[in-house]
Parts: sequence; structure tokens; C-alpha cells
Amino acid sequence: MDHTTCPVCGSSLKLQYRLRFNVYKCAGCGLLHSDAQFEHSFESDLESTSRDIGLKQLRLGNFMTIISKLKAIKSGKIEGLEIGCGNGWWLETCRDNDIKCTGIEPEHIYENYHKENKLNVIYGFYPDVSPKKIGGYDFIIFNDVFEHIPDINALVESLKKDLADDGILIINIPMSTGFFYRVSTLLHKFGMNNSLTRMWQFNFHSPHMNYFNESNMKMLLEKHGCSCVDVFKLKSLDLQSTKERMLADRSMSKWKAAVMTSVLKMLKPVIDSSEADIKAFFFKKNK
Ligand SMILES: [Zn+2]
Repeated sequence: MDHTTCPVCGSSLKLQYRLRFNVYKCAGCGLLHSDAQFEHSFESDLESTSRDIGLKQLRLGNFMTIISKLKAIKSGKIEGLEIGCGNGWWLETCRDNDIKCTGIEPEHIYENYHKENKLNVIYGFYPDVSPKKIGGYDFIIFNDVFEHIPDINALVESLKKDLADDGILIINIPMSTGFFYRVSTLLHKFGMNNSLTRMWQFNFHSPHMNYFNESNMKMLLEKHGCSCVDVFKLKSLDLQSTKERMLADRSMSKWKAAVMTSVLKMLKPVIDSSEADIKAFFFKKNK
């Protein structure tokens, strides 16, 4: 794969920093792009170990925000596709809200959970295994998945074929302009790389390939004949659940968790006033 030109705007990429993989920045649109590789040799345990109540509440809250926006645009019976459905929480939320949705997932680690909860999941990679729907899907959604895809231009072309003419492409994605990314960049400047490595998920088998901001995300889709019809902020940090998560972690002492919680409380005004860490975009194909 070419790591010298920006996959969004075609400008040249400049080396920004070296972590386990190199990260480049586009001189034109500011896209952050990595030369990371998928590791097919092992399976992820990223979320299977963190399937805790706090995280689930946070994510379900975000999913409900997306669903209410979706229902406001599309009334009646709708049918969607989720690419990279992971643990299946989005599919469960859809079912609870009377929305039909099929998931596509390359990994089998959540298969038992999918079966127990009778979720409709097809295993493999999009678009190879994607079931075709006559007339196209009413929506296709990515929840923390779009940033992992190597060839985003080919992906968008496939999505356009699978979307109904008035279908909505939903991209729920972490932002390079968010508070946590900025703090990680700052720590990196002081020689502390762990946080930035974690942001890029370079220690996991499926690292991030790109980090977008709002304008280059829109630019990519506009290039392929789509328009942004809505963009909104999602929650990335819930103090109550952060505390519960820390208390649930037996390796962390009670006082340490208490200190961390107060630090987060102090930072809350800063977090609230900065750009969102996670945004959801709604795109439609141009007529
Ligand atoms: Zn660019």
C-alpha cells in the first residue's frame, strides 16, 4: 500500500512520528495515516475482557443517540447493516428498538454471545460476505470500525452500491481533534508513548489505519459523491462509569482509583469545552 500520498485529498504525506508503526500527516487535509499492518496470527481480546457494565452503559447511551437521530430522518420499517459488529451491542440495541440489522464480523470470539442472544451475524470481511439487499440498505453503520479499514476509497465505492438511494451511511468514529488524542500527542512530546500507541491500537492485531477530523472525513465522502446530512458529538467519558470500571479492576487499589477519579473530575471542564473525542456522521448519496 502507498504511504506517500493522502488517501483523502492526494497531497503528500509527511512523517509525523514513529511509534511501533510510522504515523504520517497530510499536508493538505491534516489526515493522520499509519503504515500499520493487520496481524492475522492472533485473535483480539480487546473487548472480551472489558465487557463491563460501565462501558456498556456508555456505548448503549451513544447508540440510543444515533437511533433517535436515525428515526427522526427515517420513519417506518427500516433495515440496516453493521460492518464490524464486534460484541453485538449495536445489533441488540436495534432489536430493542424494532430495527432490523445484520452484522458482519471477521472474528469469531463473540460467536457464542451472538448465538445466545440470537443476533443475526455473518462471519467474514465486507464486502466479500455481504448479503445483497434488493433496493439497498436503509442504513449501513460503522461503530469504531471505519478507522481500521486499509483501503477507504474502495470501501466507500462498495458502500454506495449497497446503500439504498436515500440510505444513510453512519460513521461513529474517534477524532484526531479530540481531548484524549491531543493529550496523548502532548505526552508523546515529553517522551511518553504509551498513550498514543494505545490511541492507535498499535498493540492490537487490528490497529487504526487513519485518524480523521471533521473536515477530512466530510472531504472523503464528498469526493465519492456523498453529502453530510448531520454530524454530532458522542460521549467518550462518563465519570460515574469510569469510577466503576476502575473499582472493578482488582489490580487497582481503592485510593489510586479515588485519585484518578478526582483528576478526571478536575479535567471535566477542559474535556467538555474541547472538541469531541467521538463524533457520528450521517451521509447520503447525492441525487
Ligand atoms: Zn489529505
